[in-house]
Amino acid sequence: MMMFQATRRSKGYHHTMKKHTLNYISTRGNTSPRTFSEAVLTGLAPDGGLLLPETVPDVSADLVRWRNLSYGELASAILRRFTDLPTADLDEILRASLQHFSNPEITPLRSFDKLHILELFHGPTLAFKDLALQFLGNLFAYLLDGGRELNLLAATSGDTGSAAIAGVRGKPGIRIFVLYPAGRISALQERQMTTVPDDNVAAIAIDGSFDDCQAIVKELFSDAEFKQRYALGAVNSINWARVLAQIVYYFHGAFRVMERTGAERVRFSVPTGNFGDIFAGYMAWRMGLPVSRLILATNANDILARFFVSGDYSLCKVRATLSPSMDIQVASNFERYLFYRAGGAATTVRQWMQTFSDTGRLCLHADDGRHIDPLFSAESADDAAIIKAIADTYENTGYILDPHSAAGVHAAAREGLDGDPVVCIATAHAAKFPDAVRQAIGRTAVHENLEQLKRLPTREHRLPNDADAVRDFMERRIE
Ligand SMILES: *Cc1c(COP(=O)(O)O)cnc(C)c1O
Repeated sequence: MMMFQATRRSKGYHHTMKKHTLNYISTRGNTSPRTFSEAVLTGLAPDGGLLLPETVPDVSADLVRWRNLSYGELASAILRRFTDLPTADLDEILRASLQHFSNPEITPLRSFDKLHILELFHGPTLAFKDLALQFLGNLFAYLLDGGRELNLLAATSGDTGSAAIAGVRGKPGIRIFVLYPAGRISALQERQMTTVPDDNVAAIAIDGSFDDCQAIVKELFSDAEFKQRYALGAVNSINWARVLAQIVYYFHGAFRVMERTGAERVRFSVPTGNFGDIFAGYMAWRMGLPVSRLILATNANDILARFFVSGDYSLCKVRATLSPSMDIQVASNFERYLFYRAGGAATTVRQWMQTFSDTGRLCLHADDGRHIDPLFSAESADDAAIIKAIADTYENTGYILDPHSAAGVHAAAREGLDGDPVVCIATAHAAKFPDAVRQAIGRTAVHENLEQLKRLPTREHRLPNDADAVRDFMERRIE
């Protein structure tokens, strides 16, 4: 870890366009260093790796001063360490990115005795992806600077598509095309996309599965000519800006629970699919936030939990569960963790990724014979355990969890709530997943935004499961 000089941070930034900041390097070591702005527009590194800051700023000396900052101030203080943007511009991007959150605390902490719930669902689409995608949308618009155009293309099984649309709707120079499997996402999730009236948005139902949608996206991205001609861009969870935006709420949540309990160290329980959310917590720890444990919570798709329990990272078939946003096997952000795990040796990461891609399996051994990584513990929850966690929490506190957040609360309870306080991350509002909630407690949660959606007109596009059909559609919209 590297300490930034205090003098380098203080003052002067408003007047200097270029400040010395971190460069970004690839986990696979064969990409020349990028600035923050380049890293955001690059997405996946050309060598197939993921971008990471070349050093992680140590902020331990700032923690006391940061405790009393508002969410926006804290975001500015943290993100400044990682970006090459003038501070005034960064602050304006942050202001714009937080303005559509309905709670003044942005990510409020709810406490019920020893159960602490950090609510990340007060953004426009009621899921935690808004925290990253509101920021990414404004950042893209800023980096394009009114000149260039960007056509975003994404496949979604639910939450990502609506959050990405909410992040860029109405932004000049940016269009977004989101593919989703017809009839296979919830009616509410579909309405969150198809009721958006802005002309730069197209949500397209594909006659196929989520995997088919992803295959089309992949095929179009691999068409170099098409990609170049239409400046195709991605919003997927490997974009460094998404991870960065998510680091902030770990600090915010830790400060709130410390204030409330007097504790000096904190644990987090994090429902995980792509290892994006929990990786942001890992970065917060690397920066010096006193995190004593990261509890990784999966649903029945438990590849990550198996890794942290036994070192075995081996691919299984994806199973459909009540927490669909975590129905993932290959966790796209995991490679970033592996880079640190390999002590920053890109050749090791390359070998590991090669092994995994050849055999579907990667096996690492515990350093101390017991733990793969003492910072992490892991638990998986099948649908029955998720239903039970929703029901038990409701019975004990009156609080209604969504099925993703419930996996985290289940894992926290298994770990035990005595000791350092556990902040359970709540990733979606319970009203988004009425079926699971009704199964658990015999009623549903309501949210006024979702009620409103039911009355809005929709715009539907439907295409066959065929990359050429999508390519034609996009060309017609763009030209
Ligand atoms: C995306 C999502 C997750 C998983 O987040 P990752 O960053 O992929 O680990 C969990 N819960 C909800 C509601 C989500 O939308």
